Amino acid sequence: MERSRKMVVISHCLLNMNAKVEGLALNKGCAKELVLSLIENDYGIIQLPCVELDMCGINRWGQVKSQLNHPHFRNRCEELLQPVVYQIEDYLANGYQIAAVIGVDGSPTCGVNRTCIGAWSGEIGEQYHTMEKGATCKMIQEAGVMMDVLREMLKNKGIHIPFTAVDEESSKHTLDI
Ligand code: SF4
Repeated sequence: MERSRKMVVISHCLLNMNAKVEGLALNKGCAKELVLSLIENDYGIIQLPCVELDMCGINRWGQVKSQLNHPHFRNRCEELLQPVVYQIEDYLANGYQIAAVIGVDGSPTCGVNRTCIGAWSGEIGEQYHTMEKGATCKMIQEAGVMMDVLREMLKNKGIHIPFTAVDEESSKHTLDI
């Protein structure tokens, strides 16, 4: 059968919501609407690594970009992304199309247009000023750590792929690509 020769590269949890920080998943298994529409439109799907899961495990607390944007996390992003970037390079050199990188807006790691920052750190409890620290957390128009790293890696290879995202706070995951 003639293959479609077109693919998207998507954040890990869009195919496996179980990877998300407890409480954040708005779909039971995967971003069903998005995935079904990709399947319907004959896209192959390349799954990005979940660097938060890799670094901090499934019982991690929710964090903000200000916490994750440190050299070791960025380096781990690069290590885990390297095999994906090699694949992308190989596909493109052989006439395949990578239509988009699809991230998760709001995520400190996978946000494309929007991520969260704040003075969020330390112990949790009234005596540690948790509420005051939480109040400093906000969304800004910036990419998350891994998407920053991925963009840079692709740019260094002269590869231009459009980046887009679904909204972390919406269970309706549809995109026009
Ligand atoms: S948004 Fe990214 S870092 Fe967060 S759970 Fe999904 S894949 Fe992991």
